Amino acid sequence: MLIDTLDRILKPLYRLLAVTGQKCLTCGRTTSLSREHFGICRPCSLLIPWITSLRCVYCGRTIGCPDCTREGAGPWHFVCNRSAVTYSADMREWLAQYKYRGNESYAPLLIRMMERGYRQMQREFRNRQQFVSSREASNKSRVQEHWQAHMITSVPVSYERLQERGFNQAEVLARGLADAINLPYAELLQRDRHTNKQSFKSRMDRLKDMEGIFRTLPEAGHLIELQANRIFSSDRKRHLRSIAPTKVPFSLRILLIDDIYTTGSTINACSQALKNAGQSQGISVEVYSLTWARS
Ligand SMILES: [Zn+2]
Ligand SMILES: [Zn+2]
Repeated sequence: MLIDTLDRILKPLYRLLAVTGQKCLTCGRTTSLSREHFGICRPCSLLIPWITSLRCVYCGRTIGCPDCTREGAGPWHFVCNRSAVTYSADMREWLAQYKYRGNESYAPLLIRMMERGYRQMQREFRNRQQFVSSREASNKSRVQEHWQAHMITSVPVSYERLQERGFNQAEVLARGLADAINLPYAELLQRDRHTNKQSFKSRMDRLKDMEGIFRTLPEAGHLIELQANRIFSSDRKRHLRSIAPTKVPFSLRILLIDDIYTTGSTINACSQALKNAGQSQGISVEVYSLTWARS
């Protein structure tokens, strides 16, 4: 009885002690941190420019977007992109810490933010009920209730970049996210060379630069087929159990992860390679992109 009472009094105290006096990752202040604020202090968590409403349903931009609808834009090989945050000055600093200064302690924070981005994507598609991609005329997509991806992969970096940086920032985010949402991660793509700085180039030049840079790994077709078989057989079982089976044309939904979405040329080139790998196995693949930030 006494132990129970003590326990009741002490437990909240322990909890309090456990979260105070920790150093905030992003500002260095010693304060209390909580999961609710993504493991950083409250003032820092308020700096996060979450994307909550979008103007462009294709690329997930928050401002009017001529890129996706302009005559001659495309062809697009992915259904859409969504990003967790806009690329503000603060976010630029956080990403620089993680990506260029190799501060690995940023990974859990960025992964939690990606997870929130994915949950939001699910909610949005659930509300949208029928999201039909008019950009992908060959592959009309019907996003059903309880939308979820079937497998996760990431945008690769070139061998030189990997040597220089020591890690692929997108892969770390993708693997972390896959763990958090319980989906399989597969390495499917490779990048033959890296391109020079993109910011000064025209859109056309950027798209040209991307040609032939990304290829799928030799085992990609097989991995896609394996996952399609797993999903398809469980789908079929579910349909057998239901009284009125609905015939939904099957597409394997691959979630492609990168840190930043700028013009979409990288995501588009990767998506094309993924779709081709699926096609070579007779499997229809839909690529959805989720990036940490939208620049
Ligand atoms: Zn802070
Ligand atoms: Zn757009």
